[in-house]
Amino acid sequence: MSICVKKFGGSSVGSKERIAAVADRVIASKSDGNQVVVVVSAMGDTTDHLVEMARELSNGNPSPREYDALVSTGENVSAALLSMNLNAKGCPAISLSGPQAGVMTEAIHSKAKILNVNPSRVKEELDKGNVVVITGFQGISPQNDITTIGRGGSDTSAVVMAAALGLDECEIYTDVDGIYTTDPRIEEKARKMKEVSYEEMLELASLGAKVLHPRAVECAKQNEIVLHVRSSFSTDEGTRVKESKSMEIEKAVTGVALKKNEAKLSILGVSDKPGTAAKVFQKLADGYVNVDMIVQATEQDGSNNISFTVDKDDLKKTEEILQDIAKEIGASGIKSQDDICKISIVGVGMVSRVGVAAKMFTELGEAGINIHLISTSEIKVSCAIDAKDGETAVRVLHSALELA
Ligand code: ASP
Ligand code: MG
Repeated sequence: MSICVKKFGGSSVGSKERIAAVADRVIASKSDGNQVVVVVSAMGDTTDHLVEMARELSNGNPSPREYDALVSTGENVSAALLSMNLNAKGCPAISLSGPQAGVMTEAIHSKAKILNVNPSRVKEELDKGNVVVITGFQGISPQNDITTIGRGGSDTSAVVMAAALGLDECEIYTDVDGIYTTDPRIEEKARKMKEVSYEEMLELASLGAKVLHPRAVECAKQNEIVLHVRSSFSTDEGTRVKESKSMEIEKAVTGVALKKNEAKLSILGVSDKPGTAAKVFQKLADGYVNVDMIVQATEQDGSNNISFTVDKDDLKKTEEILQDIAKEIGASGIKSQDDICKISIVGVGMVSRVGVAAKMFTELGEAGINIHLISTSEIKVSCAIDAKDGETAVRVLHSALELA
């Protein structure tokens, strides 16, 4: 008999009916001869509500230990309900909390890293014939306190459990049926991919394809576990996230991602001296501003302009910080623009091909789309463009790069 790990996210266990549907699916898998481990998230947006209550009753500053004691409870509800429903349908099942399932973490609350998983209880219960339903998101610290591993962490809980059980695949059930070449709401010709590499998935996830938690992808890559992302509403195969070397790389580009709601800022006339950029970006980091694309250009008078993008929500804060620094480093001024988006093409096939970036720029140019900033990595080219051009850019590139 083989063991499988199935993770069901918040929307997949969002109601009693959904939990009952998950139970049916688990029973079908058990009837196929599998030993089934299920990892669940909290129902729907339960965790958001818990976080809100924690803030309200603690003047916005809950004790980290009590915060985890509270927000971890959403998963207990869905795990126990699923287990009960399985039992009621004649399928022996037991729910285990993160601590009971042997998930040990560091003693850092609300974003603990998982240090080790001891799956002995899980194996014991499987050997007794039980389906084991584990709460995602939680663990236990060396001091025996409940910890949580960061918002969206139950994908990672499932991957570490699959690794501890020595498996090479982990199924992630969600409310979409796989990973697409681009957002199907923007381009109806977007195609569900059969496979995508860990690296590409990481780029696509950080660019806004919010299907898988990036930490879970890292963790799966490290442990060589294939992630099968699929819909909890259908039985169709989804997308497998795996090592790229096992794949024939036919195309340079795998996907097109659009990140909306960006703002661009420039600090002008900065003197060309060592340590200036460090000063600017250290101040921004101290203010918890997450900076994305960065470009420095040298002017004819030898001074530099430094431009970068941030989340639109951070624009005001960033402007304030820049005003202060501008004085300090003798910059001649700052400029900002709040209607920017970022269009990116991603693909491991880019590594071995030339002209991919040129093709992107040509296509955007021919569509009359102006590029403000460009940044690249080995497997990605991103351009900051006007927000109004974002969706057109997606469609133009998706078609020009033959992704349909
Ligand atoms: N319930 C937790 C959250 O909403 C963990 C998860 O969903 O993965 O962040
Ligand atoms: Mg969730």
